Amino acid sequence: MKEIDLRSDTVTRPTKEMLQAILTAEVGDDVYKEDPTVNALEEKLARMFGMDEALFFPTGSMANQAGIKLHTQPAEQLICDKWAHVYNYEGGGVSFNSGVSCKLVDGHRGMITAQQVEENINPPDFYHSPLTTLVCLENTTNKGGGACYDIDEMKKIREVCNKHNLGLHLDGARLFNALVAKNEDPKEYGKIFDTISICLSKGLGTPMGSVLIGKKDLMKNAIRVRKVLGGGMRQVGFMAAAGIFALDNNVQRLEEDHRRAKEIGGILKQQSYIGEVEPVETNIIIFYLKDPSTEKEFMARLQEENIRISNMGQGKLRIVTHLDYTEEMHLRFIDVLGNISLKS
Ligand SMILES: *Cc1c(COP(=O)(O)O)cnc(C)c1O
Repeated sequence: MKEIDLRSDTVTRPTKEMLQAILTAEVGDDVYKEDPTVNALEEKLARMFGMDEALFFPTGSMANQAGIKLHTQPAEQLICDKWAHVYNYEGGGVSFNSGVSCKLVDGHRGMITAQQVEENINPPDFYHSPLTTLVCLENTTNKGGGACYDIDEMKKIREVCNKHNLGLHLDGARLFNALVAKNEDPKEYGKIFDTISICLSKGLGTPMGSVLIGKKDLMKNAIRVRKVLGGGMRQVGFMAAAGIFALDNNVQRLEEDHRRAKEIGGILKQQSYIGEVEPVETNIIIFYLKDPSTEKEFMARLQEENIRISNMGQGKLRIVTHLDYTEEMHLRFIDVLGNISLKS
């Protein structure tokens, strides 16, 4: 029985076609900025978002950490949702790499409003509190279950940032999921944000790589920050080639991941063992069992079928659809979900 791995959209492996693009890539030393394929990928993304510059990073965490460093000085504070990846999942890098603290906002599904941003800015003249200099948003939200921001709310947040002289960074690890789900124009994002990180190794299916894009005045320091973080790589055009391939081939198909995720959400809702299923907007399904004590039994039943999902703790279970989750697997998974009956 073939494994069905729905723990994350990071578990994908490169297809034959992507491997072919990797094998035939023209490369050079990217630390000298002499890798033509990395340069092409950076240019492609910068142009797509209507931004000045882009820089390739090994991981999404490093792209976010560099983005935060570009905006802040030690002892300053950034504003983010309490579920933000930059706060919860980057190993405390915000304090380690930039020496800044986070003001956590109690948002909705990982998203915050312009009003909440405004309410959480420390008065700049009150020197007892950290100086607020940056706002970090996440779209789609990871812990928020793949929820997408309303573009108008992000525009309002931009206005608040302008008014209070704050930078605005987007953790866009899954931004393409939002772009496809809401049929948005990437250039709109280029107008709203100062910096955006984009992950190529999630739904887009590459083995590694993220890109930070942004405005010239900020990005001029990005290559130095990347070097400090140890992210300068040599013939990494092989991986950039996978990124270019993914942007050309794997974006619109995210719709399929979204359709399957919605179908799974619908099936889960009908099951007697389910307590709640959060609204499914993109490729992430977060749900709760009716009786949390049946969690072990539920996971064991899936394991028997060679199916893996994530347990996020506090009763939160997570399923993520992706490029390597085929229609055949989908039909089997739905069938399994419909046939589970939990004892307790
Ligand atoms: C995956 C992810 C990242 C980057 O994670 P890496 O594992 O470092 O590539 C950043 N933000 C969000 C919201 C993510 O889901």
